[in-house]
Amino acid sequence: MNLSLPLRELSGVGDKLDDAFRRVGLRTVKDLIHYLPRTYDDYTQQSSISDLKPGKVTIVARVESTETHSVRRGMKITTATLADDSSKVKAVWFNQPYRATQLKSDEKYLFTGTFEFSYNRYQLTNPSVEQAKKLEQQTGEKIVPVYRSIRGVKPQLLRKLVESLRPTITMLGETLPAGIVTEQGLMSNAESLLALHFPESQEQIARAKERVGFEELFELLLASQLNKRANSRLTGYKIPFDVVAAKEFVAELPFALTNAQRRASWQIIQDFESQIPMNRLLQGDVGSGKTVVAGFAARQAARAGYQSALMAPTEILASQHADTLRELLDPFGVEVGLLTGAVKGKARAALLEQIASGGIHLIVGTHALIQKKVEYHKLGFVVIDEQHRFGVAQRQALLDKSQHMPHLLAMTATPIPRSLALTVYGELDVSVLDELPAGRKPISTRIWAPTNTEKLYAAVDTELAQGRQGYIICSLIDEDPENDVKSVEAEYRKLRSTVFRHRQVGLLHGKMTPGEKEEVMQRFASGELDLLVSTTVVEVGVNVPNATVMIIENADRFGLSQLHQLRGRVGRSSHQSYCYLVMSDSSKPSARLREIEKSQDGFYLAEVDLKLRGPGEIYGRSQHGALNLQVASLGDAKLIARAQAAARAFLDSSEDLLQYTQLAAQVEKNQRLTTLN
Ligand code: ADP
Ligand code: MG
Repeated sequence: MNLSLPLRELSGVGDKLDDAFRRVGLRTVKDLIHYLPRTYDDYTQQSSISDLKPGKVTIVARVESTETHSVRRGMKITTATLADDSSKVKAVWFNQPYRATQLKSDEKYLFTGTFEFSYNRYQLTNPSVEQAKKLEQQTGEKIVPVYRSIRGVKPQLLRKLVESLRPTITMLGETLPAGIVTEQGLMSNAESLLALHFPESQEQIARAKERVGFEELFELLLASQLNKRANSRLTGYKIPFDVVAAKEFVAELPFALTNAQRRASWQIIQDFESQIPMNRLLQGDVGSGKTVVAGFAARQAARAGYQSALMAPTEILASQHADTLRELLDPFGVEVGLLTGAVKGKARAALLEQIASGGIHLIVGTHALIQKKVEYHKLGFVVIDEQHRFGVAQRQALLDKSQHMPHLLAMTATPIPRSLALTVYGELDVSVLDELPAGRKPISTRIWAPTNTEKLYAAVDTELAQGRQGYIICSLIDEDPENDVKSVEAEYRKLRSTVFRHRQVGLLHGKMTPGEKEEVMQRFASGELDLLVSTTVVEVGVNVPNATVMIIENADRFGLSQLHQLRGRVGRSSHQSYCYLVMSDSSKPSARLREIEKSQDGFYLAEVDLKLRGPGEIYGRSQHGALNLQVASLGDAKLIARAQAAARAFLDSSEDLLQYTQLAAQVEKNQRLTTLN
C-alpha cells in the first residue's frame, strides 16, 4: 500500500471520519502509522478489588450503579460503584458524562486507572473501560494500545483501522542508515512500529520505544549540528572589547551586577571579538535582569561603531525596554530610539532617517523593526527578547537587515532544562542567569481549595486597599479557546458587579485585537486599573511592579513552568507579593502542585515538569508538536548522548544524508524549526 494514500481511501473511512482525522493533522496512511499509542492498558496484570494497592491498576468488574453531577464551572463528575466477587470500589471520572450511559449493569468490564486516596476514601480515578467479552475474544492481545483520543473517532475504530494497516507496516523499509541500526543494536523500523501498535510484551514495547526515541533524537541532533556547522562558516563583525567603557558602564549602575550577569556579559564580550557571529541564548528567570546584560553589550557595540537592535513581541514591552535602556545608556551618549506601530507620520519619518544615518545607536521596537522601509546603519548586534514568541522568518528578517551576519543574543524567560537546551538548541551557546538580584522577597504562594472564596477575595482587596494591583487568571484551558473566553468574561462580569464593585476592573483575553490588548495593559501598567481579570495571555515580560497579588483559577490544570511564569507577574518590587493557586475541585493537591508552593526556582520547576509532563509544557505545545517527539524523553540523558555521538559520527563520515529520504526531510524540517538565524 502507498504510504501517501489519503485515509479517505481506506475502507470504513467516510467524510466525517476523514474530517475528524484531519482536525488532528492525520491525512495519510503514513500519518496514521506514526500516530503512536500514548500508553497501554496491560490486562495481563489483573487484580481483584480486595487486593488493590495504590497506583495504576486493572480490575474486571460489574457496574452496580452510576451517577453524574455538576460541580463548579461546568465541570461534571461521574461516579460508579464497581463490584467483583471480592469487594466493591468507587470509580470517578471527570468531565466524561457519557460513562453513565456507556456502562451497562449486566456487562463485565475491564477498568484500568489510578487507585488512590481522595475525599477520605480509596477510589479508582478516570479509569479506561473495555468490554471484558470483547477482550476475551481477541486472545493473545492482552496489552491494548491507548491512543490520544480524537474527537469523533471511537478508540475501537481507531484500533481496527490501524490493525488493517498491519501488512503495510510489516513491509516498511528502514529509515535510519543501516550501519547505525546495527551499531546501536536497534529494532528495525518495521519491527518497532509493529511492536508499538500490536505489542506482545512490555519488554517489546520498551525496545520499540528505544528505537523510535533514538530516531527522533537523532533527527533533532543532526539538525542542530548542521545548523551549528553552517553558522561557523559565516563571517560577521569583530567587535573589540573596550575595558574602559565596560568599567564605566558598571560604575554608573544603581546596583551591583549579580555574578550571573557578570558571567553572561563576559561570555558575550568574548563572542563579539570573534569573526564568527555570536549565536547565544540568554536564559534567565523572570526578574533576573536580562535587560541590563543586553544594554551592556549594546554599549560595547556602539563604542566600536556598530548599531544594535532589540526586538520585543509587544508595544508595551518594547516601550518599557526603551525606557530602561535609555536610562542606562544615556550617560554615555548612546542614543536609544523606539520604533513601533504607534510612531506615525513625521515622527516616524524622522526616526527612520536617524536609524538609517546612524544617529541612533540602539533601536528598540516591535515587528516594526523588520519592515522593508527600515534601513539600518552598520547593524552589528541583534537582540530578540522572548525569542520563542517570534517565528523563524521574523528573526531571519531582522538579521537580514545587516550586510554580514550580526551577532545574535536571543533572550528567554522560560527556563529550559539542560537536556532540553542541548537537544533543541544544541547549536547555540547558552548563558544562564541563575541568580536573582539581591533583596527580592519570595512570593508567598498558597494552594487554595475552591471553597472559601470570600476570604480569598478579601485578601486581594486588602492589597488593593493599600494601593497595590492584582491579577485574576481564569483560563479553563479548554480544548476550545472559545470556552476560555466565555469563562473569563463571565468571571469579569461577576467580579466587577459584586466583590470588586468598588474597584476598577479590566478584562484581557486572546480573542481581543492586539490593539485592544495593548490598551488594557497600558491602563493596568499606568495604575488606572486595580484588578485585571485575564486568561493566560497576560504578557510574560511586562513589568508592573505595583502588582502584588495574583489568583490563578484551575491551577491544577497548568504545568508548573506555566504557573511559575504567570506568578512572575507579581513579586517585582520590594513589596511582599502573594499568589493563590485555586484548585478546580476539592481533591487533594498533587505532589507536583505542592512543589510550586515550596520553590521559586524556575529551572527546578521546569525539571520537575519535564519529568512529569514531558517537554511540550516547557518548550511550547505547538513547537514541540512540530519537533515530532512522540516517544523520546528529553529527560533520557543516556539516549540523548548516544544519539548525539551518532549524529556527529554520521556528519563526519562520507555518508550522504540525502540518500535517506525520510530522514533528510525530517532533519530539514527540524533545522528550520530550531534555528535562530
Ligand atoms: P528580566 O530578566 O525579567 O527581563 P529585567 O531586565 O526586566 O528582568 O530586570 C528586572 C528588574 O531588576 C529591573 O527593574 C532591573 O532594573 C532590576 N535589576 C536588574 N539587575 C539587577 C541587579 N543586579 N540588582 C538589582 N536590581 C537589578
Ligand atoms: Mg525581560
